[in-house]
Amino acid sequence: MQNYVMAIDQGTTSTRAILFDQQSNIIGIAQKELENYYPHPGWVEQNANDIWASTVGVMFEVLAKTGIKDTQIAAIGITNQRETTVVWDKESGQPIYFAIVWQSRQSDSYCEAFKAQGLEEMIKEKTGLLLDPYFSASKIRFILDHVAGAQERAERGELLFGTMDTWLLWKLSQGAKHMSDVSNASRTMLMNLKTLDYDEELLKLWNIPRCMLPEIHDTSEVYGYTSGLFDHPIPIAALVGDQQAALFGQTCFNPGEAKNTYGTGTFMLMNIGKEVKLSENGLVTTIAWGLDGEVNYALEGSVFVAGAAIQWLRDELKVIDSSEDSEYMANKVSDTHGCYVVPAFTGLGAPHWDQYARGTIVGITRGVNKYHIIRATLESIAYQVNDVLNAMKADSGINLAALKVDGGASANNFLMQTQADIINAPVNRPCCVETTAMGAAYLAGLAVGYWSSKEEVRHNWSIDQKFYPSITEETREQKIKGWNKAVKYSYGWAKDE
Ligand code: ADP
Repeated sequence: MQNYVMAIDQGTTSTRAILFDQQSNIIGIAQKELENYYPHPGWVEQNANDIWASTVGVMFEVLAKTGIKDTQIAAIGITNQRETTVVWDKESGQPIYFAIVWQSRQSDSYCEAFKAQGLEEMIKEKTGLLLDPYFSASKIRFILDHVAGAQERAERGELLFGTMDTWLLWKLSQGAKHMSDVSNASRTMLMNLKTLDYDEELLKLWNIPRCMLPEIHDTSEVYGYTSGLFDHPIPIAALVGDQQAALFGQTCFNPGEAKNTYGTGTFMLMNIGKEVKLSENGLVTTIAWGLDGEVNYALEGSVFVAGAAIQWLRDELKVIDSSEDSEYMANKVSDTHGCYVVPAFTGLGAPHWDQYARGTIVGITRGVNKYHIIRATLESIAYQVNDVLNAMKADSGINLAALKVDGGASANNFLMQTQADIINAPVNRPCCVETTAMGAAYLAGLAVGYWSSKEEVRHNWSIDQKFYPSITEETREQKIKGWNKAVKYSYGWAKDE
């Protein structure tokens, strides 16, 4: 009897294996932290062999902890940090360079050069993405340029590229499968959103040989089987980018449904259905998933500094002892006393896109105390999310019925209530906030018939708490007006005069 589905959540800070039962209960979790390397300012790298070792480690650990046998696992679903790039030797299986992490800026100059050539629009038109080193293409280019002989070896078919989904599938299947899914492939900047295949013009532009790229498949299907690890091969039945997995785990199956994840930064994704829609408001268009031969598209917008601003209150200002404390402290006062915090520590993303913006606090009068600042910092998260949501509404023409939330900071009731007030729509927090792993488990379980349909899966999603808007329209307008004014003061600060 196969009672469980295993999700492997390969994240930036750790790798986890989570077992789910058919009612979506979590039966066991194992986790291993990963080391990040910062060889130069702005560069972030990881060791792909460590990522593989951590994956094997957590898979065995979660089985040992729970006493569950490999024969009881119906399928494995892999969800992963997106865009992180590894290139390895097909014969030896050894990476030829460290894995370049999504946050890393080391390939910035390639993107700048293409911008100078006016290629931004063409790239956006084909891929839905902004020309930024965040995505995989420039990272592959960097590796092929910085490892001696790599370009020639790649052209001879001796090297393979993968994001972490592809790397783990290849390792788990002992080199039998070199594949990726549409959600991950849509982050490479090499895939055409409409044809769902690598785009010849883009391959030429980046000078990346097609033979090193993984085959692109649906998100939910049996890709292959584990080989050599267990006595019984287990089907690997989903590969999916982490944010898209969370969208699925939140059961946002219909156009117009959206989720926001509150972590270090925030990630909002809205399902926009079966048609590509390019953003005119600074968002990216991406593939949510491929399921039953059809793809769903999504709009995506992120806020760079969200939970990180709470860490700043804790670690730099030292006005709170823990992130959780921020809620209690914010509730000590009834408003921010007219002050606004704009935590633009690393510039501002959608819809402002000002890399020169820097943090600022405005509206300080003699009565402003630390509680007001803490409250204003929490409110700044809600305002930033509202800005992204407004861009999404403008692009999609859809008015959101409710926002589903997850991530560490979604535990903060003050923040969630403020969010509902500012977006003027209910905020729904589910009982299970492990939505990323759950999404991967669902997609794998659906592929092997462990769950029969999306409707069955939707049944398992339940609300922990619903937050309703509770302020007047006038108050809302006034607050947002103040925020818009405050944000303008942060613009362009770091620019040389
Ligand atoms: P990530 O996946 O980006 O590491 P998590 O989802 O684990 O993030 O959330 C951690 C972030 O959320 C941290 O930045 C932390 O400061 C913030 N955070 C966690 N709990 C709370 C809370 N109760 N109130 C406000 N912020 C919180």
